Amino acid sequence: MEIKFFGATKFVTGSNILISTKKYNLLLDCGMFQGEKEIEDFNFAQFPYDPQKIDYLILTHAHIDHSGRIPKLVNEGFKGKIISTKPTMQLCEIMLKDSAHIQESDAVWENNRRKRAGEELKKPLYTIQEAQHSISYFKTYDYDQEIKLNDDIKLIFRDAGHILGSAILELWINEDGNNIKIVYSGDLGMPGRPIIRNPEYIADADYLIIESTYGNRIHENYSDSMDKLIDIIERTALRGGTVLIPSFAVGRTQELIYELNKYYEYTNTEEYKKIPIYIDSPMAIEATRIFQENAIYFDEDAKKLILSGDNPFAFDNLRYVQSQEESMNLNKAQYPKVIISASGMANAGRIRHHLKHNLWNPQNSLVFVGYQAEGTLGRLILDGAKKVKLLGEEIAVELEVYNVQGFSAHADIVHLKEWLSHFEKKPKKAFVVHGEVDAANSLSRELLYDFGIESIIPNFGDGFIIKDGFTSQISDLDINILNERFDILNEIELLEDEIKNLKLLIEENKNDKILRKSYDILKNKVTEAKSVLLEINLLLGK
Ligand SMILES: [Zn+2]
Repeated sequence: MEIKFFGATKFVTGSNILISTKKYNLLLDCGMFQGEKEIEDFNFAQFPYDPQKIDYLILTHAHIDHSGRIPKLVNEGFKGKIISTKPTMQLCEIMLKDSAHIQESDAVWENNRRKRAGEELKKPLYTIQEAQHSISYFKTYDYDQEIKLNDDIKLIFRDAGHILGSAILELWINEDGNNIKIVYSGDLGMPGRPIIRNPEYIADADYLIIESTYGNRIHENYSDSMDKLIDIIERTALRGGTVLIPSFAVGRTQELIYELNKYYEYTNTEEYKKIPIYIDSPMAIEATRIFQENAIYFDEDAKKLILSGDNPFAFDNLRYVQSQEESMNLNKAQYPKVIISASGMANAGRIRHHLKHNLWNPQNSLVFVGYQAEGTLGRLILDGAKKVKLLGEEIAVELEVYNVQGFSAHADIVHLKEWLSHFEKKPKKAFVVHGEVDAANSLSRELLYDFGIESIIPNFGDGFIIKDGFTSQISDLDINILNERFDILNEIELLEDEIKNLKLLIEENKNDKILRKSYDILKNKVTEAKSVLLEINLLLGK
């Protein structure tokens, strides 16, 4: 049996793992690469395997970095089955269509430029129609149900507590009479989060594939974060301002609605504090509908609330905004309010219009409740930009900016270890994926020191033969080229961070004495660094 890693290797997006036996090929997840343009360009590259030869795609959850290349896989010949839970399929339908919509409009925009430059036109990664078509390949199953794919392969989905429908995968594969059990964590959630259940524990595995997004971090306390958010809302309302919350349409937005419902309906909140809360995102509205249809998968608290007759996604001062016109009118209204809108990183969607109309006004507040990736508008503002370019206009950033960090849907290192501690039989080996280098390294160390589990942090394209309880690495020349490019890009990104840190150190002025004493040496070192950069440029032929 072979296992190969084609994404989320030393970074967090593009999850894609290929497992091949003599008879079958199965993929675990088929996600999109997201982030810097160089990384996103990989979405257009050919799959490093023949999609026609894939028998099954097993999908852990609907997030685009796990599902976003499914329509491309189908376009390029995939004829197998996509195996997932029902909510994952339902959420995928809206998320893949939304992703296609973004792909189509990106292509239109890029092609206007290419036409002017006389260049060849670009095709979108996939269209809305193609996204819709790919949904017909899904076959859905329940949690905890034994799913027999064929005589050799069976699997069980366990709740991963990450987003609605998310699953940990227990996979049993038989080859030549040898049975091997692989466990793939998918994205692991944080226990105690609203609406969804806690991640389930797993007792044993021969091989473990585990995510490491926050392998080196401890999250802020959740209820403190919620209190902080309420406090910001009330202080902003008192001075007559608007609170903008860029939020992922699926998951985070429903969580916020659920918590605000609890606050406004169950805590004796004074009437005057019940300012209008607008959910301005058609996709969030669709996703909320899917949540409501799947209450059977909610945790006990949420079920109790529903059984008591409350709809946790509705309260008196909550409004869902569907039409574009109504959305635009929000910016003419002068009363205190909260606008929760997508996208979560402010790089697309209606939130951009609201930012344009509200960033300049010091009465207002902007609250980030999720991860802001490098290169996004959200990150730019979070990093302290005083002016940003938005929808063709330069806008001053004068409002209050907050970063409330305790909402993460990923287990932090404390909870990753807690989850691992429930293995009764230790895996022979672990593969650490879905984490940047520092995070993956940190988890890998903990695996060894705390649990005695040896682990591998695969590079893009790394393959391993699993036989008689041993793993050995295989390599593939074509893949190595891609891998090397990822590797160098990674190093350059680290270098970028270090240069930024150096700049800060020098700007801080604390080191004036050292600076004066070592001025000549420092200057020489910087000149040396510049000449090394020149050499790299020469090597790359520029
Ligand atoms: Zn996820």
